[in-house]
Amino acid sequence: RLVPEDITTLLSMTQPLKLRGYQPWEVFCDAVANMVNNPLLPPDGKGVMVALRPVPGIRVEQALTLCRPNRVGDIVSMSDNRLMLFLSFCRVNDLDTALNHIFPLPTGDIFSNRMVWFEDNQIAVELVQMRTLSPEKVSKPLPATAQNNAQAKKIINAEHDGTSWRRIPEPYRLLSDATEQSS
Ligand code: C2E
Ligand code: C2E
Repeated sequence: RLVPEDITTLLSMTQPLKLRGYQPWEVFCDAVANMVNNPLLPPDGKGVMVALRPVPGIRVEQALTLCRPNRVGDIVSMSDNRLMLFLSFCRVNDLDTALNHIFPLPTGDIFSNRMVWFEDNQIAVELVQMRTLSPEKVSKPLPATAQNNAQAKKIINAEHDGTSWRRIPEPYRLLSDATEQSS
């Protein structure tokens, strides 16, 4: 039987679900660890972790500015020249759908290589590896990234319809109010 302290502990383990977007490396690793170790969540169904290596000519910091998670629980960080995403409750078969929602360009244009983990054990093993990364190898986001994350919807005036990106038309009046009043 659960006593109140256990409930508090279990509830606190669901906190990472409240994160969204870019997280410093340590925070990212802790959040993913809390998810995979949470016995309240379905076994091997916590989500998908994916590592994306940018094509030559695109720095990982630049790729991060294109990464705009919408769903609370979708988090991203940067390691040694790779973007690391954790998409909570995303199924592995839906990974491309989710990535299409998150990036405004086809991911094949931005990234040359991807690695995917979705079982608890795989993620736990990779986490051990991730935590050995020395701090000087961890990239820092460009100053604009935090702002971009907050304003992503306003900066790109387009929406994804499931297959491709379409601009959202904006109505324009050819005559300004001033012109109308003077005529
Ligand atoms: P949220 O999960 O944090 O998602 C925020 C926004 O990300 C959504 O805003 C939507 O624009 C986008 N998004 C997230 N997941 C998906 C997805 O699987 N497919 C698509 N096409 N878009 C996605 P939206 O639609 O205004 O929803 C606001 C909030 O309402 C969501 O926040 C979530 O908490 C809840 N919600 C809406 N629809 C559903 C649903 O079908 N299932 C669940 N569990 N929650 C939903
Ligand atoms: P799912 O989470 O089971 O969602 C199934 C469908 O419910 C979605 O199909 C979408 O039509 C609707 N839906 C779910 N949540 C939301 C929401 O917050 N807002 C709106 N407007 N609709 C919602 P869809 O978009 O084809 O996605 C299929 C699957 O792909 C999702 O299954 C999920 O596993 C994954 N996925 C898609 N987008 C995201 C995302 O932004 N983040 C994550 N973590 N997974 C996503």
